[in-house]
Amino acid sequence: MRRFRKPRARVPESRRHFAGRVNRALDDPKLQRALTQAMTGLRARRNAAFESFDFAKGRADLKQRRRQNLDRLPELARQFAERVEAVGGQVHFAKDAADARELIGQLCWNAVSEHGKTAGHVRPVVTKVKSMASEEIELNPFLEAMGMEVVETDLGERMVQLTHTRPSHLIAPAIHLTKEDAAGVFGTDADVRAIQRHARESLRQKFIEATVGISGANMAIAETGTIVLVTNEGNADLTTTLPPVHIALFGMDKLVATLDDAVAMLRMLPRSGTGQLMTSYVNWITGPSRSADIEQSLTIGVHGPSELHCVILDNGRTEMLTDPEFRDALTCIRCGACSNACPAFMAVGGHQFGHIYNGPIGLVLTPFHHGLDEADLPNTLCTQCNACQEICPVDIPLPRQILEHRRRGRKSLRKQALLGLWERPGLADRALRAGAPFSGLVPGAPRLAGTPYRDRAPSPSGRGEPLTIFASCMVDRMLPQAARALETIARSAGYDIGFPKDQWCCGLIAANAGDFEGGYKLNTKLAASLGNSKGLIVTPSASCFGAFTIDAADWGPAAGDGVATRFRDSTRFVLGLLEERPELVRTGGGRARVAYHDSCQSLRQLGLKDEPRRALELAGYEVVEIPDIANCCGFGGTFSIEWPRVAGRLAEWKLDAIQKTGCTIVASDNPGCLLHIASAARARRQKLRVAHVLELVAERLA
Ligand code: SF4
Ligand code: SF4
Repeated sequence: MRRFRKPRARVPESRRHFAGRVNRALDDPKLQRALTQAMTGLRARRNAAFESFDFAKGRADLKQRRRQNLDRLPELARQFAERVEAVGGQVHFAKDAADARELIGQLCWNAVSEHGKTAGHVRPVVTKVKSMASEEIELNPFLEAMGMEVVETDLGERMVQLTHTRPSHLIAPAIHLTKEDAAGVFGTDADVRAIQRHARESLRQKFIEATVGISGANMAIAETGTIVLVTNEGNADLTTTLPPVHIALFGMDKLVATLDDAVAMLRMLPRSGTGQLMTSYVNWITGPSRSADIEQSLTIGVHGPSELHCVILDNGRTEMLTDPEFRDALTCIRCGACSNACPAFMAVGGHQFGHIYNGPIGLVLTPFHHGLDEADLPNTLCTQCNACQEICPVDIPLPRQILEHRRRGRKSLRKQALLGLWERPGLADRALRAGAPFSGLVPGAPRLAGTPYRDRAPSPSGRGEPLTIFASCMVDRMLPQAARALETIARSAGYDIGFPKDQWCCGLIAANAGDFEGGYKLNTKLAASLGNSKGLIVTPSASCFGAFTIDAADWGPAAGDGVATRFRDSTRFVLGLLEERPELVRTGGGRARVAYHDSCQSLRQLGLKDEPRRALELAGYEVVEIPDIANCCGFGGTFSIEWPRVAGRLAEWKLDAIQKTGCTIVASDNPGCLLHIASAARARRQKLRVAHVLELVAERLA
């Protein structure tokens, strides 16, 4: 059984309070502008940086190196300590945050006593380079309580410090602030040069006065005892060079075996994080400053520090290391790319999407460093779109890990009620039939079909090759036209259609809400209901196909192997038909323009990128690409019920992007996305036909 860090003795935030913060973030136009500009800009720069570098190859290499480093972590820690001590530095190990604070506090105290740069100053000055590890242990208030003046020297981190907030992004701590906010913080004109000048002037004296400089480390190289800092502003050089004592605090996961490992990380880190081929500064620090210029005798601390202390922090990392589900999270290089790719992060910002560590990786780390209570509400903001894993330079299965935490966390009453209903098909059937006439009255909500597909589904005739339709609960009740289109296409190709009437849900809706047990039960029931069917089982829901054939293995023992091997998604099924038998569709006539929306599961789980486009083109449509705003439409199963306003913001961005294409038709192969986009379009009265690929193909049948 995994043990999480004991939460601090405080009352966990209520869902209502958290929802208030989320809503305020959504209602803050300045924050929204800051987030969308920053995220879309960072993504574009990251993509450009990988145009000249093979991302897949670099990722495979780095992942392998990082995993090998993890396998040798205790040995690397010993080797690093030996090497650092051999060059005059000291290494300390801290088991948790309190331990690290005490250690660093004592080191600072000793430094003040020893090097006493306090003359003429009220308080000893400690300068700092941006360090998430120091945020993790909440170091600043501790040192301040000891009477030190702590000065953050990274521009963004300084703004965060002066506004008494927390970093809202791993590598861009003040990403939530605009230029105008920055000017307000520093009391200057809203002009970048004026802000920079002021920061430079106000910080320069602090660098000189500081007795201790504290940094983190992007890497700690065991074979040389070197710490590496990857920065852009130049403040790291001043912080780690000018004071007589330098303390570097970093997690044990930052240990790498060799210089080659560090270079592999350097290839991926700036490209992934800021879209730079290389940052402005990379500091390689091996021991304290030294000289042998006077009679070849070693002198320590000539220009730079005379003391270097490396504090290696555990604070839950050993638990992660021994947990097969979460071990990979220790390979993280803290590039922040997962946050930049995350649609929900862009909507609500890092102060809501995480705790001290934020973004997708923050959701994964928080339970280990700060307790599950600090993570379970932010965890619910994940739509499970998989964009974070796709972009991660070490391929960490972040969505899966977030789900694992979600499984253990609190669940809202609304979510519990919905899942309770869904897991009882008979009750759900009665409720959905009763609610269908009124569903159109709720603005922005999906509409229930008056007649579900099952009421008109055919029975096999015994003529032709058998084919079974698994409609999915959603298509059955809300998008029956997609199942009818599949039926029409398959029949035109000579198939004999069957539809087992006791089929219901694949379980994805429950599993995505963190209810694996419920997902397993639903999945097992579905396997049983499809067990006696004949021929291929084709579903118009790409996500249900993925859930049944891929995800379900995570929820419980495999159910119905014979069924899974017959399962097909409708996109590949129809593409295969059209490629083999082009005569099935009419050619000629105008080519209607269709914007194609990639559902997250189709694109990232099933890898269906060209297939739906090709199927539409073979059916005579011109497919138009939708520009990137947030990628995910915001549906996310129960996510859109739990966080309708966040889901609505994502859908607005999707509609804005569709509008840019000039198309009046948008297609997809995922019923959830289609229903969600259609509801959002209705809510803002955007004239848009939202259609399943199957419907468009069926309309072109000869
Ligand atoms: S799966 Fe999507 S929504 Fe969830 S954390 Fe990753 S990018 Fe964000
Ligand atoms: S999880 Fe991956 S993408 Fe996110 S910060 Fe870590 S390395 Fe970067």
